[in-house]
Amino acid sequence: MDSETADVIDHDVTTITCVCGNTVSKGGLIQADSQGVPVYNGDKSPVPAGLAEWPADEDLHTLCPACGRVYRDSVIEETGTAPVAFRVDVTAGPIAEAIRVHWNLDAQE
Ligand SMILES: [Zn+2]
Repeated sequence: MDSETADVIDHDVTTITCVCGNTVSKGGLIQADSQGVPVYNGDKSPVPAGLAEWPADEDLHTLCPACGRVYRDSVIEETGTAPVAFRVDVTAGPIAEAIRVHWNLDAQE
């Protein structure tokens, strides 16, 4: 494995600058589960098709939808560093679909 690390400020996952240069205010970052699937953070039930449920153990990750790098929130909060946990394919398959659903919901709110 490589040892890529994103920039992050003060243990705050919302301040990540992804290795690819993406940030919350640029292309946005998405809360995801331990598989890298975007989670639903609203209060409607059931969870909209395509999105993952909020993890019961609160083991949240942060997905960069631009490049598919995923960071583990608990590592960032504990250490103040943001090593890349793993990478997912954001161009096809269920994660691409979940990202699309996520942004659609976002646009409605
Ligand atoms: Zn990225």
